[in-house]
Amino acid sequence: MTLPDATRYYIDGAWVAPEAPRYDDIVNPATGEAFAQIALGNEADVNKAVAAARAAFPSFSKMPLKDRKDLIAAINDELIKRNDEIADAISIAMGAPMGLARMAQAPSGPQHFGQILKEIDSYEFEEWLGTTKVRHEPIGVCALITPWNWPMNQIATKVAPALAAGCTMVLKPSEKAPLDAVILADIMDKVGVPKGVFNLVHGDGPGVGSAMVSHEDVDMVSFTGSTRAGIAISEAAAKTVKRVSLELGGKSAAIILPSAPLERAITTCVREVMMNSGQSCNARTRVLVPKDKFEAAAKVAVTVAESLKVGDPKGDADLGPISNKDQYGKVVGLIQKGIEEGAPLLTGGPDMPKDRNQGYFVAPTVFGPVTPDMTIAREEIFGPVISMMTYDTLDEAIAVANDSEYGLSGAVWAETRAEAEEVAKELRTGMVHINGAGLDAAAPFGGFKMSGNGREWGKYGLEEYLELKAIYGARD
Ligand code: NAD
Repeated sequence: MTLPDATRYYIDGAWVAPEAPRYDDIVNPATGEAFAQIALGNEADVNKAVAAARAAFPSFSKMPLKDRKDLIAAINDELIKRNDEIADAISIAMGAPMGLARMAQAPSGPQHFGQILKEIDSYEFEEWLGTTKVRHEPIGVCALITPWNWPMNQIATKVAPALAAGCTMVLKPSEKAPLDAVILADIMDKVGVPKGVFNLVHGDGPGVGSAMVSHEDVDMVSFTGSTRAGIAISEAAAKTVKRVSLELGGKSAAIILPSAPLERAITTCVREVMMNSGQSCNARTRVLVPKDKFEAAAKVAVTVAESLKVGDPKGDADLGPISNKDQYGKVVGLIQKGIEEGAPLLTGGPDMPKDRNQGYFVAPTVFGPVTPDMTIAREEIFGPVISMMTYDTLDEAIAVANDSEYGLSGAVWAETRAEAEEVAKELRTGMVHINGAGLDAAAPFGGFKMSGNGREWGKYGLEEYLELKAIYGARD
């Protein structure tokens, strides 16, 4: 496998060297060993990229919609063609098992590019209110900052709508998993995206991210990652009053109602959390069951968790390693905290699985019953860890589910959809899955409370990149 080169940036339609070269290792989390280098940029690199994006904006924002659509379609075709290459680039850097990388991580690119192609056809970029014309215009130069857990997904949910809107952009992918972004830049280059429309700068938060968000020539920031960084970004962006769209963490709950099919519900909940080793912001990691069903539910959860294979991402493992050393330390630390605070450990734990002797592996871990005051019921763990909790009444279940600073996702399981939907309405979250329903690329993805303030995916994601202009008296 030829690895994409993350030691150069893509600025103004060309691959360029860093202004002041500084390099870091990219580490394979399955081995703990460095396998490539990344260049870490600085303010001068950001200034160059933003200047290129600014210069490209006047013409790209006026490019006929049909031509923008053709570009997006061409990118989409290439993403589909290069699926396995993208999957390899993701898997080696963040540890997703190859099956997940090829079937979900890499295809999330065309999923969002494909969806935005559909949205373009029906979206009303101009509408009338009597004699007033309301135009939805591109917001301008966008700073896009993404994390390592679903790298292509988070890049595509930003780049595709930004292009569709007519914005120009600078992307800073995660410094821990930057290789799929390099492939995307190569695709942009090959399909002829005009120079300066899409720029890629590598680097960390302090060196590049903060220079992007405080830059006076950037009109909007779209960020996915930790709530900590989201707050810092909002503060830095406030001085120039730019739009900030945030997609942050979560501590989502699944409520299993007494009428629900218990075994199916618990099996699905456990499998969903463990996918991607629990490193999904919308993972429903608190599983709430009626008190009198706890023993039966815990038995199913343990059986499912223990049936999942943890191992080399190149093989047929269900779970690969945790994506990086820092995250591994955080996950193990929180598992230890759970034990210290007296949460019964039902399976898994802080020790490396027996057949692993290198890398950052954590076994699927289930605690229960966990009480609402425990750290593992409150903090986002971002690892393969489930906190099973109990309730006596429906009101208590809803109160516990909502007792979180986050409000990203949720799940409700019941015998009927109608019963589940009544509970879904009570949850203070941006998304709720009824009886195991999957995500919908056309529907808004995002959260309430400290899970963020933006919405991505479909037409809702497109609207993040648009400004409104009212033109009064545009007709009689
Ligand atoms: P992070 O928020 O520190 O990093 C995410 C991205 O933001 C990276 O590209 C990083 O370089 C950049 N960044 C960091 N600080 C910045 C700043 N001050 N200004 C501008 N850009 C900045 O996330 P992390 O350290 O990679 O992971 C930490 C925690 O974040 C995880 O444990 C998890 O809880 C959470 N997380 C959430 C998501 C999500 O999808 N919501 C994704 C990854 C991580």
